[in-house]
This record gives sequence, C-alpha cells and structure tokens, in this order.
Amino acid sequence: MVIDCGTGGHALARKLISCDDKGRRGNILISHTHWDHIQGIPFFDPLFACGNEWDIYGPRGLRESLHEALAGQMQYMYFPVSLDQCGANIRYHDLVEGSFAIGDIRVSARYSNHPVLTLGYRLQVDGATLVYACDHEPHSRMLSLGDGKITGEDLRHAEFMEGADLLIHDAQYTAEEYPEKIGWGHSPVEYVLKLAAHARVKRVALTHHDPRRDDDAIERLVASIRQTSSVDVFAAFEGHVAELKMRPERGALPSSGEVADMPAEGKLAEPVVLLGIAQTRTSAAVCEALQAESICARSLGSMDAVRISIAKNGPALAILEHNPPRIDGIELCRAIRRQAPEHQLPVLIVADREDQDAGAMAGVSDWLIEPFTAAYARTKIRTWLLRTARKSIKSATHAEEERPSHPLRVVHAALCLGGHGIKNLPRVSQRAADGNDPVISSEKAALLWMYGRQIAAFDTPTFSNKVGEIIAQASKAQTSSRYR
Ligand SMILES: [Zn+2]
Ligand SMILES: [Zn+2]
Repeated sequence: MVIDCGTGGHALARKLISCDDKGRRGNILISHTHWDHIQGIPFFDPLFACGNEWDIYGPRGLRESLHEALAGQMQYMYFPVSLDQCGANIRYHDLVEGSFAIGDIRVSARYSNHPVLTLGYRLQVDGATLVYACDHEPHSRMLSLGDGKITGEDLRHAEFMEGADLLIHDAQYTAEEYPEKIGWGHSPVEYVLKLAAHARVKRVALTHHDPRRDDDAIERLVASIRQTSSVDVFAAFEGHVAELKMRPERGALPSSGEVADMPAEGKLAEPVVLLGIAQTRTSAAVCEALQAESICARSLGSMDAVRISIAKNGPALAILEHNPPRIDGIELCRAIRRQAPEHQLPVLIVADREDQDAGAMAGVSDWLIEPFTAAYARTKIRTWLLRTARKSIKSATHAEEERPSHPLRVVHAALCLGGHGIKNLPRVSQRAADGNDPVISSEKAALLWMYGRQIAAFDTPTFSNKVGEIIAQASKAQTSSRYR
C-alpha cells in the first residue's frame, strides 16, 4: 500500500506533496510490492501528467529492483501503458533499513515480518510522529497467541513505534483466527494493542482488514476492543483523514547518519552463510532458500573453524538448528559469541518452537520457526543479510568521516568485476605504491560507498541512483565474463 497522505493528516500530506505552476511534486512510500499494495499505481493520474515529479521509495524485492517490480505489473499483457510511459518524471529509491530525510520529514525504515521484504515507516516532523506498519506478523508465536513477554524482534518492532501520535498497523485477524493463518504475514489485533500499549502509542488505526469482515463486523470488533483496552483505537477506512497535532517548536530535524536509501543488491554480492543444521529435511529447506538467492553456504564445522571463518571470510549470517539433544543451536550460538565477541554475526535459529529467554541470553538474533514456507525463509535470510550489509556500509561511512580529509583515489579497475578483482585485493586500506594517496579497501561495500561519494552527497537520490547504475554495470560485466 502507498502511504496515503490523507490518512496521516493534512499538514503531513502537504509536506509530502506540493503543487506549483510547474506541476506537482510528491513522495510515495511503498511498504512492499505485493499486489494489494501497488495495484493502484497504474491508475494514479498524477504519475501521467507531464511536469509532475515523483519520488517513489520502497524495499528492493527478492530479485528485482523497485522499478522492475512496479514495471512488471504494467507489462503489455496486464496494462496498456508501461511504467516508463508515464508522463511525470519519476525517481525510484531502493531502500534498506535506516533513516533518511524527505524535506524536513525524518523517515526511518524498519523491516517487518512478512513473506517478502517489507518496510515499516516512521515519519517525524514538527514534533509529530506517524508510524505505518503494514504488512507485519508477530515474530513470536507465543506472543501472537497472547502468551509471553515482548522480547527480541517484537520488542524492536515496539521500539520502532515508541510514542507515535498515530500508528497505522496491520490487524487483519483476531487472536482466535490467527493460528490458522500463521505464516501469512499479518497480525492479530490483540498483538497490535499489546505492543501499542507497551510503546505508549497515542492512537492506533487498525487496517488491512480481513476481506471477509464487512463494515458492521469491523465496527463490532472495534467496539469490543474499546471495552477492554486502554488504547485509543479506530478502524481506518478509505478517505479517512486523521489530524496530527504538529508542535513546530520541537521540530528540529535529527541528523540523518544512517543508511536507508541505497540499492540493496550490490551489498549482497557474495555473502557467506554458516550452516549448523543436522536434520536433513530442515537442511534441504534452508539450502533451497539459500540457493534460490544464489548465496554461498558453508558448514559450521568446529568452533576453531568458525573462529577462522569469521576472521577470514567475514560471514554475514549463521543459521543454526536447535533440536536438542541432537543439536543445540542455542549452545552453538553461545559458543560463537564466546569465540568472536566483537563480531556482531547475526544468528538465526531454526526450531519447531522458540525459547526467547534462553535465546536472548545466548545472543540469538532471530528465530525461524518450523514449518515455514520457502518465501518466508528467503525473506528472513535476506533481511539479516541486508542488515549486515547495511552495518558494513555504515561503519565504512563512520570510518571515512573520522579520517582526516585527504584526497581519495579509488581503484576504478576493481569495480569492473569481470569475475575477479575485488575479491583478490587486500582486505584493508593500504598506502598506494607511491606512498601518497590512500588506496581504498577492497571490501566491495566500502568501495562502492567511497566511489559513490565522488558522485554526490551521501544521502541524496543522485547518490543512490548512480551507485545503482555502477552495480548494474558491474553485475553485467561479471555475468558476461562468466558465460564467455
Ligand atoms: Zn503483503
Ligand atoms: Zn497486504
């Protein structure tokens, strides 16, 4: 779904869309590219008017860029006009988690729990905060059924909505209906209210209503919630306008130092995933998901091997089975943390039930609860790989900002991958042979970032688009050399 500016209040809407004699300028934030969230785009008149300018933001899909995913639904067999025939000037922004600015609005993006990469958005401006979290499913199955504490990724989700003036949240099911819908990517309303109360949200708009629930049924549901919940809640409907109280004196824009507007695919070029799975069926399911993503997997091996692998290959993720006494993923995770305490390797535990407390003590990052679909496993894997990639870019950013100003000389040849180059270069920054200009690290992410810095300011759309072009060219070069 496109964030409907009307839902967020007139003042916020005016900040996202403006109009002058040259045309209309606007920004559209898309949570993900499932059809129910993008099918309005081909019928959105302002995209067809010459002179209009639009920026469309959304997460990169499993394989396609945002532009490709949107264009796909407008291929000639589905629609008479292609996306590129739209009259307006449209810029596309492939997002990962992080923060960026649209005018004086601070936008933070965070991955939701859904069977395709999906972002929730937190918009802050003039002291008002709007959070949009659709589509999203509880991470913890116990919590979704009304038991257990808010921990782990659910706690992170609650923190993302902390203190919001308005939370627009997926609430497709009730707790009673949910057990039949596990893995479909949507929330029971009781879970939403529990997290909203924990996060001290001021108002909640329930949305993504189940298509089988008619208006009367939705009204009955809201009425029953109001009898038992202290949260101010209403059901969103088309055309509804919610006014947010702006407090301009608190409106200073926080600095935007985190990575969000960045083509994701280039950061996933060759991630290594460590696997510790004993069960053949589980291993096959996880390996299938990894293969579908063209991701290289290595067996975990001994702890010594893990330590060496972490130092040598910088794995991006470990996936461990927890099925004691056959294999104790939580203990393995604890051992990994002991071996490499400074390496923030994400650890995803595969199990048929969660143990959030023991997992949190051992440093488990997330759980993949069986049974799971291939789409669900792929999205979990992607989410954590993108988070790792984002971290490496962010640390490269900070390292560069702390470095005394010195002209950069980028090894351009390394960008023309051709199936070699970057991998064989040294891993750390070195002095060039002439001892003057620093030669940049071979680490692909850092290299791309630094190259991007030569093109445009870091947090601008130009930066994102240009780096995207470079990655596309490099990938093409790599592919053509492989098949030569
Ligand atoms: Zn969806
Ligand atoms: Zn949806």
